[in-house]
Amino acid sequence: MILVTGGAGYIGSHICVQLLQAGHEVLVLDNFSNSKPEALRRVECIAGKKIHLLEGDIRDSTILDRALSHPVRAVIHLAGLKAVGESVNKPVDYYSVNVTGTLNLIQAMQRHQVYQLVFSSSATVYGTPETVPIKEDTPLHPESPYGRSKWMAEQILHDLSLSVANWKIVVLRYFNPVGAHPSGLIGEDPSGVPNNLMPYISQVASGKRPLLQIYGNDYPTPDGTGIRDYIHVEDLAAGHLAALTALKHSNELLTINLGTGHGHSVMEVLNAYESACGSKLSYQISARRPGDVAFYWADPSQATKILGWTARKDLQSMCNDSWRWQKLNPNGFC
Ligand code: NAD
Ligand code: UDP
Repeated sequence: MILVTGGAGYIGSHICVQLLQAGHEVLVLDNFSNSKPEALRRVECIAGKKIHLLEGDIRDSTILDRALSHPVRAVIHLAGLKAVGESVNKPVDYYSVNVTGTLNLIQAMQRHQVYQLVFSSSATVYGTPETVPIKEDTPLHPESPYGRSKWMAEQILHDLSLSVANWKIVVLRYFNPVGAHPSGLIGEDPSGVPNNLMPYISQVASGKRPLLQIYGNDYPTPDGTGIRDYIHVEDLAAGHLAALTALKHSNELLTINLGTGHGHSVMEVLNAYESACGSKLSYQISARRPGDVAFYWADPSQATKILGWTARKDLQSMCNDSWRWQKLNPNGFC
């Protein structure tokens, strides 16, 4: 059985589908602070299999003991807070959930002698990189409480792996996850105004928002707009299953980028989305967003070498799947 913390969330729900389809028993621990139980019902519908669910907070040791009293072989730890901007205003919440929550989880895993962990980290830990593509040994300069909370959790896991030989840990640094399950049944369901580009564009496409603000067209990029490494959430989920397999054969903590190795500009994403939804989308050029980096993308060669994983889906399929999800679920999971 695999314990997935935060399994009802955007990335977790896609991982749960693939785990079930690969024949794993899945136990989700989630407090639904940023997700809905309906997501898990739809996961079960796609996979045609049941999920075991515990509702609770990863900072609650009692609920973790309950979760780990199941025959759990490995944990995929996704539960966390993830909004960079919000983390500046609520740093304590971010350190509490992302750092204390992770500490609490590994202490519970030690109590139950479960030593295999896949951890969700983020390319945010690199901050503004000096060079691209970003390799895993690029110096880390997290620039927000969110980024620092992921960096701290990574440090804790690193020290843990050096202290006791039996821990097997993979830290996955995600680049920009986008898209949705091709069924249109599960996808990203942001509460309030989306912070990120693709969910925002999808709401412009559905008529929920009047236009996209493009944050700057004077960056040193071919069309002047910011460039990111967008990765389809299905590819990202597949990376976790590959990490679970790699864990078994590894004796050291592995830190691995999950990205495509290709960057796309805001204009390219907008154009691909227009092709997906079949209409022109309104936009306006506005000032740069404070703290934004001009361009970055991953060097994903370690993922290929160590996990045998490569991202397969292109920008157009990311936009097509995002649009299908948005069109079929204009109000998310409701
Ligand atoms: P999400 O918010 O959709 O999912 C997180 C899940 O964790 C939600 O279901 C939420 O209810 C749950 N959760 C939050 N706090 C909890 C707590 N204290 N106890 C139990 N459950 C809790 O986010 P996501 O996009 O699926 O991200 C999953 C992980 O990946 C996060 O750790 C995030 O930091 C990391 N990550 C996400 C991105 C991204 O762009 N989506 C990029 C890099 C890293
Ligand atoms: N962006 C934009 N308008 C938006 C949201 C994002 O122009 O409403 C740009 C942003 O400046 C960046 C890119 O889209 O260049 C990706 O932003 P996102 O927030 O999705 O990812 P992050 O910057 O956190 O990597």
